[in-house]
Amino acid sequence: MQMRKKRNSKSIIGLVLLIGVIGAALFVFASPDFERNKPEVSLVDNNGYWNMKKPLVFQLDDESGLKSYSVTLKDGATSYELRQEQFVEPKHDVVVSVEVPKRISQLKTDEVIITIEAVDASKWNFLSGNVRTHEFPLVIDTKRPLASIVTNSYGIGKGGSALVVYRVSDANLSDFHIETKTGKRFRGQPFFKDEFFVSLIAWPVTVEDFGATLVAEDKAGNVARASISLYLKEVDYRTRDLTLSEGYLEGKIRELAEEYPETQGVEARIEQFKIINEEVRVANEALIHDMTSHVPEEMIDTFSINAMYPLRNGKVLGDFGDHRFYRYEGKRVSESYHLGLDMASVKQAPITPQNSGEVVFADENGIYGNMPIIHHGMGLYTLYGHCSMVHVQAGDRVEAGAVIANTGVTGSVLGDHLHFGVLVQGVDVRPQEWMDRQWIRLNITDVMNDARESISRLGGPAAQD
Ligand SMILES: [Zn+2]
Repeated sequence: MQMRKKRNSKSIIGLVLLIGVIGAALFVFASPDFERNKPEVSLVDNNGYWNMKKPLVFQLDDESGLKSYSVTLKDGATSYELRQEQFVEPKHDVVVSVEVPKRISQLKTDEVIITIEAVDASKWNFLSGNVRTHEFPLVIDTKRPLASIVTNSYGIGKGGSALVVYRVSDANLSDFHIETKTGKRFRGQPFFKDEFFVSLIAWPVTVEDFGATLVAEDKAGNVARASISLYLKEVDYRTRDLTLSEGYLEGKIRELAEEYPETQGVEARIEQFKIINEEVRVANEALIHDMTSHVPEEMIDTFSINAMYPLRNGKVLGDFGDHRFYRYEGKRVSESYHLGLDMASVKQAPITPQNSGEVVFADENGIYGNMPIIHHGMGLYTLYGHCSMVHVQAGDRVEAGAVIANTGVTGSVLGDHLHFGVLVQGVDVRPQEWMDRQWIRLNITDVMNDARESISRLGGPAAQD
């Protein structure tokens, strides 16, 4: 009996110990103090390229907090420590910004490995914590892209267009465009030979001052700029006061107000007019800018365009760029910019563009009525508003001289006329320039011919190095 009791108490002690050990193990296993997850490490805002000027930003985090981390750079055989830090208290959400010390500005290779080692404050691994080691291979590129202007139109008029031919190149080129002072970006179309581009640019009539710069950026964030030297020509635009007649408000405005969702529930004619002239116009113009912003990507050698005159014997009724103020009961109640040329001949006159192109839109567009838009290439578009009949469809290829539509009174108009618009990459420009053969030759054709000659010369022995 005694023996058995002894044996029993021994096994009870053993069992208790076992339970204790298992319990302790379970406790350790379940306790957040002993978590076994490695710290999370990421390199922020990096695409695998580095110009060594922009600091490398790492984000570190861990559920039990970070104890320490180190960042090293390996350049072939050599390893440089960039940063090492230990925390007295475990730290969460650590953001590390690492700049390159001046002593390692010269690297042996253009591909390096950045290693970050982060240790957390967990008691796991006999209190030494979980270790994350992450390698980030980076391509080093410290050279700016080449960006130079080959040639451009001598000048640009307010509200007008110009042409620029330029060269950009870089082993890791990511983006390039012509940027104006107001932030508008014009894209280039490949021109004549590799690395060369051509772009039409425009000075919006609503902008007082104009300036344009070629900007090229590579994947490592190196940026090159070349400013485009253009003689700026002021062009006088008119301010016109138009009195809103009862006939117009009770006729056209009443008719349009019934049609547009924007004017539902609005009773006063003058309020309906304001909504149509402001809200509806903004939406209609947004659609136009959308439809006219595309630039082809295929390489071109030349671009020929005929002087535009879409309406035979068309008399100009309203000018491009007019700043219109609308008066009602002696007060200015609304305003707008007139972004086309109004022309009229007879009712339902045939509209015949002098240039071939692709129809990109041929539908109704609010105050513009039935409105086909044609792309003539290189981001140059023409628009025909207020048409009665339209004979083309989006996607059609039209030949020069074909009748695409007839004038009419659709949209916000008083009498039968054509609203003729010209757009360069979504910017409304002065149609008169494109209706002038001399202007086209001097500003577009000659500039492209000069550019081809210059590029051909560059292609000689001098360009070998
Ligand atoms: Zn018009």
